[in-house]
Amino acid sequence: MGKWSKRVVFLFLCLSICLQIPSISSSASPLQENQGHKESAAARTFKQKQGNAHVVHCSRERSRAAWKIIEEYLMPFVEKERYKIASGCRLHADNDLYRDQEQHKLHVDINEWRCGYCNKNFYEEKYLDKHFDNRHFDLLNVSQSRCLADLCGALHCDLVTDSAPRKTKCNPAAAERNKHLCESLADSCFPVSNGPLSGRLHEFFLRQFCDAHMCTGGPKPFSKGSKKRTSILYVSISILTLMLLPLFYIFVYLYQRGIKRGSQELKRISLSGRKKKPF
Ligand SMILES: [Zn+2]
Repeated sequence: MGKWSKRVVFLFLCLSICLQIPSISSSASPLQENQGHKESAAARTFKQKQGNAHVVHCSRERSRAAWKIIEEYLMPFVEKERYKIASGCRLHADNDLYRDQEQHKLHVDINEWRCGYCNKNFYEEKYLDKHFDNRHFDLLNVSQSRCLADLCGALHCDLVTDSAPRKTKCNPAAAERNKHLCESLADSCFPVSNGPLSGRLHEFFLRQFCDAHMCTGGPKPFSKGSKKRTSILYVSISILTLMLLPLFYIFVYLYQRGIKRGSQELKRISLSGRKKKPF
């Protein structure tokens, strides 16, 4: 009887395990569904260091992409109007979790990236990113929800990142969601009630970022174009070139004169040598 009871218990255990398998797979399916959920899956990466409790639910790469878009396609227009974005606006620099770290990134040379906190050098940007994650994670203030990557859907981050392949099919629900997020950004950052200047930028924001969130045709993102702030850099490079060019010609002139003089002296030596031969 003891044997039989053991067998019954074993069978019961087997049955209960078999019954639990579908429940496990069904609990995994929402995760898979979430993967199709373009924004949350792409923007939120799960970083965890074993033993250490620092977890950041915000993609550094996509935050960087969002910032690049803000800097290139929004800020020049905002600065031109001399408008000050309120700190409550999610597009404000203070609301980018990684802004401080990104500002402490020094691109010294093509293959040289330096940490502005401890002056350590790295061959590639990605290694410096890892260094920030491991060594300077304590500098991130994760208490507030300041993930710029969360705005990627509204800001069209996919257009500036080349890592993620672009979706060929447009998802109407996702487009609607992104449009809604985009419009809420326009409302909170450039409230129409704040006066004509804010109203103008509100209108600009809608045209520049929000209008493109539709599946059937529609305008392209950044339809108002960009105003790259490279003018200062461009001017300084041209001035430097103009200053260095005469120096270069002087150097070439002196070098050629040196060669000529050298060859003349050689001729003189060889001629004097020939003259000396008969003696
Ligand atoms: Zn460092």
